[in-house]
Amino acid sequence: MFTGTGSDANGGILINNGIIVETVSSGHTPAHEWDESVDLSNAVVLPGLINTHHHFYQTLTRCVPQALNKPLFPWLKTLYQIWQFLDAEMLAAATELAGLELMLSGATTIADHHYVFPKGLENAIDVQVEAIGKLGCRAVLTRGSMSLGEDSGGLPPNAVIQAEDVILADSERVIDEFHEDQSGAKIQIALAPCSPFSVTRELMTATAELAERKNVLLHTHLAETEDENAFCQRQFGLRPLEYLEQCGWLTNRTWLAHGIHFDSDEISTLGAADIGIAHCPTSNMLLGSGICPSMDLIDAGCRFGLAVDGSASNDGSNMIQEVRHSLLQQRLRYAPQQITAETVLGWACKGSASLLRRDDIGEISAGKQADLAIFNLDELRFSGAGDPIAALVTCGAHAVDRLMVGGEWLIESAEHRDFIARDLIQKHSQLAKKLQSS
Ligand SMILES: [Zn+2]
Repeated sequence: MFTGTGSDANGGILINNGIIVETVSSGHTPAHEWDESVDLSNAVVLPGLINTHHHFYQTLTRCVPQALNKPLFPWLKTLYQIWQFLDAEMLAAATELAGLELMLSGATTIADHHYVFPKGLENAIDVQVEAIGKLGCRAVLTRGSMSLGEDSGGLPPNAVIQAEDVILADSERVIDEFHEDQSGAKIQIALAPCSPFSVTRELMTATAELAERKNVLLHTHLAETEDENAFCQRQFGLRPLEYLEQCGWLTNRTWLAHGIHFDSDEISTLGAADIGIAHCPTSNMLLGSGICPSMDLIDAGCRFGLAVDGSASNDGSNMIQEVRHSLLQQRLRYAPQQITAETVLGWACKGSASLLRRDDIGEISAGKQADLAIFNLDELRFSGAGDPIAALVTCGAHAVDRLMVGGEWLIESAEHRDFIARDLIQKHSQLAKKLQSS
């Protein structure tokens, strides 16, 4: 058994009541007794991977022909026309499918940024909470929002925006109903206006105040493209980070998706404010958005994690593949010695946990939640490999054999305990067809 990301547990992991009670180095005998064991001698065991940014509903609009091969703004404008017809049944199926896809790729904690609340889907977060409960993983569901429609200079059509008092009232309601803040929490809520180009300044500011009052995290997209910089200059006379600062968002409860187009002063500001960055390499490559300055952000003091981004800009939800893409992309900017398999796996585990302000997950060590991703190395792609951790990343691991969340096996022999992938694909693909032809 091989365990990566800084832990020395090659001799075994002892678990009791969903918590890791002991890690055993190779050749050592456990101090505790046990009554049940699983043989993982030819497997790589990782802490459950943590995805920090996604849009589950976008699994319904992967590879839409009219949106292909476009940069962010025209891509969004094309898809808004379809997304405005999203309904509760579609969102439930999309959440289940994206969640299962992520879990099969090694994720035990998944964050979603849901910001589309068309008429009839006002209770979108409730729909997602129910779907996540069936999957059994941990989730941070962010109550997103859009309030700046085309008529007021924003990017989204008016059909998908909501009034600010409605957004704030629902944000408070879902925090009160669903947010858990104890160690081992399964469901957490964060607040997440979509982006500077789809929300008003008043809503950005009021959301930060509400997050402070309710003690929850803040999330949004920032510095994804140069178009966004130009939009902020035009709309606010400010660069995106200056705007964010004026809205009261430079706090250690904030994590930002993408974080590509910052200058060196901005990177220092972000580090000093202890901001988290969710690095989304596949999406950034697919949309041609740019390369995140990962090591500069980390050196400045930022928390740094990994994410797949939405399935219409990835177009997958595979965390272990995202780790591979991160390594390959980041080596275009930094030296191979800086960007190792351990580096990028660390971003997907402990780094991502720090974005979500969780110190109970992301590591294999005593006292942490027993969230584990187990990959077998007896596939064609790994044959002949020396270093098992590097093999997982550079030979291109794709799916786990087993997945444990809080001491429970949710996936065994690459199948979820309660979901049949084939049935889910059938339901989801029919709903995707319906949405795309709306
Ligand atoms: Zn996104």
